[in-house]
Amino acid sequence: MKLYEKTAADLGRLFQKKEVSAVEVVRSFLDRIEKVEPYLKAFITHTPAMALETANEIDNRRMSGEELHPLAGVPIAIKDNMCTEGLRTTCASRILENFIPPYDAAVVGALKRVGMPLLGKTNMDEFAMGSSTENSAFFTTRNPWDRERVPGGSSGGSAVVVSAGMAPLALGSDTGGSIRQPASFCGLIGLRPTYGRVSRYGLIAFASSLDQIGPFSLTALDGALLMNIIAGYDPLDSTSLPESVPDYPLGLEEDVKKLRIGIIRQNVSKDFDPEVTAAVMKLVSILEENGAEIDEVSLPLTDYGLGAYYLIAPAEASSNLGRYDGVRYGHNAGGDDIESMFSRTRGEGFGPEVKRRIMIGTYALSAGYFDAFYLQAMKVRTLIRRDYAIAFNRFDLLVGATTPTPAFKIGEKTDDPLQMYLSDICNITDALAGLPSLSVPSGLHSNGLPMGTQLTAPAFQEGLLFKVANFLEQKRDPLPRWPRVELPEGGLQ
Ligand code: GLN
Repeated sequence: MKLYEKTAADLGRLFQKKEVSAVEVVRSFLDRIEKVEPYLKAFITHTPAMALETANEIDNRRMSGEELHPLAGVPIAIKDNMCTEGLRTTCASRILENFIPPYDAAVVGALKRVGMPLLGKTNMDEFAMGSSTENSAFFTTRNPWDRERVPGGSSGGSAVVVSAGMAPLALGSDTGGSIRQPASFCGLIGLRPTYGRVSRYGLIAFASSLDQIGPFSLTALDGALLMNIIAGYDPLDSTSLPESVPDYPLGLEEDVKKLRIGIIRQNVSKDFDPEVTAAVMKLVSILEENGAEIDEVSLPLTDYGLGAYYLIAPAEASSNLGRYDGVRYGHNAGGDDIESMFSRTRGEGFGPEVKRRIMIGTYALSAGYFDAFYLQAMKVRTLIRRDYAIAFNRFDLLVGATTPTPAFKIGEKTDDPLQMYLSDICNITDALAGLPSLSVPSGLHSNGLPMGTQLTAPAFQEGLLFKVANFLEQKRDPLPRWPRVELPEGGLQ
């Protein structure tokens, strides 16, 4: 088995046992990137020199006998909306095309302290607005399971690098599905942590009451190890919460007996692809056979979730993106006076979906419409929270499909924003409620594409999500690890 085929935990173990050096590990991934990246286009920026430098440093630290974290020397890729000091951070937008942050995001600092080499910054939908990575201002990323299909979004690049063996781990961000949906489309574990669990300091804001950073991994253990590094209170993020952080890998091996599990009726809808729901039910039956108690639950407000989300998120985005005026950050298109400079800069700098969101959000917040739209949406959000609170009186964990269908074709939904929005219908309500939610692979569709099951827990129960995901990993029929990447000669155009 080549190094790039191994899980992060295994790579860490080999490194600790001095069976491999961090430089060897990084080189294996760099070779793999060279081979498959031209066909998939998952990275916006490659950082091989930086990765090798960190690897070298961590090799020296190990040689000097320093005690290191289990993921020391294990490389990682990061979505390009997290600030990296001295390294271009674009948010896949023309407006930030040449933006070089003067500081590291909190999560980036944490990875550096552990000694995880950074392989690069990954492609995404512009400002994380989208579900397919087609809204990137630069290029579309391909799904390694079928290159005619999207990898999901908005963290599509991060999902692809892990799925195709270009990095053993990656970070994404999830505002309303952007980790879980691409994880399910690419056959990975993807976790959206509880709102406030991971610092958002240095994450370029989309919708601040929803944005969370989380891991993509091949296994629950890998995700748990990475969460140990990034979770925790940060005084630099005013929404970060002081709750103590458990040792996530520690509880992984516990069984699921007596666990009360509710199947969310709306997330196994008969309108979904039947193979997707059948795969959810298969995983549920494994839990039941092992002593979990299963019942159905309805979250009646679900039907209003999408509408509320597409008012709240754009409203916050319209405010957050007000700072891109050509004066303080990024692109400046010039102009005869300040008005024309603003409008030219923003007109050139933002793509169509970002403009659409800014317009919807500005409208929803404007005097005269605020009560009718934004306030209503906030009321719905409160009721959605209540739906979950009631459900969690009866259940420890809620399950359903991560997405209604497997990955769709590139171009299939680009002309119809509503169809695009509907692709993360299952990921919106728990995000609005601030809850942790994880997608675990549930099998392959008859068309060969991965499908995902979503597990949602009460706040701060990420450990439970990893435990159940780990259990399912052991008990379900094994999934093929590797996408059948068929690479044409000469790469993609
Ligand atoms: N697809 C959703 C949107 O376009 C969610 C995006 C995200 O989670 N960043 O807003």
